[in-house]
Amino acid sequence: MTVIVQKYGGTSVGTAERIRAVAERVAATVQSGIRCVVVVSAMGHSTDGLVDLANQMMNEPNRREMDALLATGEQVSIALVAMALQAKGIQSQSMTGWQAGIRTEAVHGAARIESIDTARLDALLASGIVPVIAGFQGIHDGEITTLGRGGSDTTAVAIAAALRADRCEIYTDVEGVYTADPRVVPVAGKLSVISYEEMLELATLGSQVLHPRAVETSKQHGVTLVVRSSFTQAEGTVITDMATMEGMRIVTGVATEKEVARIAVLGIPTMQHHLSEMFTALAQEQVNVDVIVQSVVKTGEVDVSFTVAEADVERAIRICEGLKALLGYREIMQELELSKVSIVGAGMITNPGVAAQMFAALETVGAEIKMVSTSEIKVSCVIANEQLHEAVNQVHRVFALDELNR
Ligand code: ADP
Ligand code: ASP
Ligand code: MG
Repeated sequence: MTVIVQKYGGTSVGTAERIRAVAERVAATVQSGIRCVVVVSAMGHSTDGLVDLANQMMNEPNRREMDALLATGEQVSIALVAMALQAKGIQSQSMTGWQAGIRTEAVHGAARIESIDTARLDALLASGIVPVIAGFQGIHDGEITTLGRGGSDTTAVAIAAALRADRCEIYTDVEGVYTADPRVVPVAGKLSVISYEEMLELATLGSQVLHPRAVETSKQHGVTLVVRSSFTQAEGTVITDMATMEGMRIVTGVATEKEVARIAVLGIPTMQHHLSEMFTALAQEQVNVDVIVQSVVKTGEVDVSFTVAEADVERAIRICEGLKALLGYREIMQELELSKVSIVGAGMITNPGVAAQMFAALETVGAEIKMVSTSEIKVSCVIANEQLHEAVNQVHRVFALDELNR
């Protein structure tokens, strides 16, 4: 019997009416003879509301308590979706992450799923009961953990992998993966198919439509992943192996990330070049460092600059200041209100000059390029927030993405 996992995001379960619509879609799937497992997010933007509340209690709230709080959002929606299904005569049962056997590593706020004990899930499915599982949460040694913002996608893919489901469908508020965020670039086109590799880059570089670890997990376990809208019947985007795709586009999509900050540690004597200590200390404090640039400005001295999320900038500077004696640097500077714009495309590997074209596009809109980072299939540039909108639209145009679907 075909088994599919359907994941519904925040907007898809944002109101009582939307929850009834979700139940309608699940009921239709079940009635067509498919075994369906449902994974849901918290209603609407309720997780943001919980984060706001926590921040009113203390600065940098305790991570354990934060997980206890944020996990409640999904518990509301699992119960409501199960009720809506029961109201339609579909047998259904809600399950928290731990009831569904989702074990994670011992990290609050960004835990990876380590294993899933599917015994309870298997029993429900065998009795024809539709499990409705809370996304984003798991358990480690009796402690509630969460997977990081947007993590319900990863729950769905991990469950699909554990059950060897035929596919995992991610239902959201857009009709699939677009060439750019359709809210930022109105002419962005929907992609019918995209490779795991390109999707992983886009997701990591800020395309919120899929959680990066969901893409990673689906590639690792060969889970067929589809992104669709819960508001329409339109076919979505299939994420698949690069090998099965015909021809590679040079640039498949543009991603953006806001609230980026740059920290520059200036005048580090090369004799005291303890960079590994600095980045280890940042990692130990869960500060995610992104683009790193090191430059030799004068003999015997290096400058190192790196980007972090704006929310982490104070913590990152505190950590670097704590290492002043070890590093011997002259000064630390910070620059806020930056963004990152990135292009991703598997065809870049064989086409030189793509970075130059991107720089030219950014120059056209007067955006100063503050940092650059590249991989085989992406180019990222850090620019000022105020130029982001114009920049992303210009880059989208220059790489002929405006013409897709026309
Ligand atoms: P959900 O609550 O369903 O998980 P998200 O808000 O996490 O939904 O993700 C969907 C949103 O992702 C869309 O509304 C869209 O604004 C944004 N997005 C960013 N980049 C892209 C892209 N390349 N394609 C589609 N949507 C994108
Ligand atoms: N509710 C969580 C969040 O808002 C998880 C998710 O929606 O995927 O980040
Ligand atoms: Mg999401």
